[in-house]
Amino acid sequence: MADFAIGVDLGGTNLRIAAVDIEGRLIEKVTLGTRIALGSARVLDDMCEAIRRLSEKYQDGSNLLGIGIGVPGIIDMETAMIRESPNLPGWSDTPVRKEIERRLRTRVILENDANSAAFGEKWLGSARSVDDMAIITLGTGVGGGIVLNGHIWHGMNGMAGEFGHTTIEPDGLLCGCGNRGCVEQYASASAIMRMAKAAIASGHAPALAKAASSDPEFSAKAVYNLAVQGDADARRIFQQVGRALGILIANLVNLLNLPMYVVGGGVSSAWDAFSPNIFGELRQRCMVYAATAPPSQTGDQGASARVDPQVSRNTIITRALLGSDAGLYGAARLPMIENQ
Ligand SMILES: [Zn+2]
Repeated sequence: MADFAIGVDLGGTNLRIAAVDIEGRLIEKVTLGTRIALGSARVLDDMCEAIRRLSEKYQDGSNLLGIGIGVPGIIDMETAMIRESPNLPGWSDTPVRKEIERRLRTRVILENDANSAAFGEKWLGSARSVDDMAIITLGTGVGGGIVLNGHIWHGMNGMAGEFGHTTIEPDGLLCGCGNRGCVEQYASASAIMRMAKAAIASGHAPALAKAASSDPEFSAKAVYNLAVQGDADARRIFQQVGRALGILIANLVNLLNLPMYVVGGGVSSAWDAFSPNIFGELRQRCMVYAATAPPSQTGDQGASARVDPQVSRNTIITRALLGSDAGLYGAARLPMIENQ
């Protein structure tokens, strides 16, 4: 068996641990529930026990190259402490790396989960062919990551790429971060649920109201299913998601001029329902996009007619290929890169 690494995706709901070989083949994946209510020490115990089990199982004949861990929230790279994590309540100022290294008696690499997802898509997913890219991850919240020259762009202390908290509505909804009108308030699974509830409360969204009352697990996925079936109210919600993402990506394209922007995370499975609005906003708002869009991407003759034939490099906006596993593969990739 080829040499391998262990990747961990620590989420607010699921804790996933995988052994992945240097060719990117998944050897084994373990999914546990994150037992948040029991506190950080128990969650870290669960994590370390699974890491130990996997590494012992496969170390016979091949080398364990290291352990990479993706965690949600803002991490201080220098101290590897979680500063702030809405998905891990009670973990603020937890010295996560130190705690894990104490349990495993080996060094681990800690990374923000969206940065790990960016790295996963860069390694094995949509962004395999480019060295520079950005990812926008849509889940309970909205995360982001930037890869430049094949490396994660951390910024001064690891906090770069917080796309979810950029402003798209100056006087918009109040966000948990203290700002108003953050992308996260309009393009996350929580935002989809908020919009669905508001539509139901208006009394003019009968299909949504029926689904919500008959399905005890009514979720963003259920809203998406209604949109696919053609329900106008559900479709409007995803159009809002696309609009918010389109404004964000238009800003990113003007700022960064990267060859690729990938939309990932659980909500990205609704790509068909919101992506037309992303391209609509880009065409209206983004000069750099108008000059660099590939003709096939927009389906809009107006934009493609403006593509400069001299510009051979195009701006690609696409969905993630690895789905919710991107962060897991990216986390496993971290120690492989470091060992090169
Ligand atoms: Zn915010």
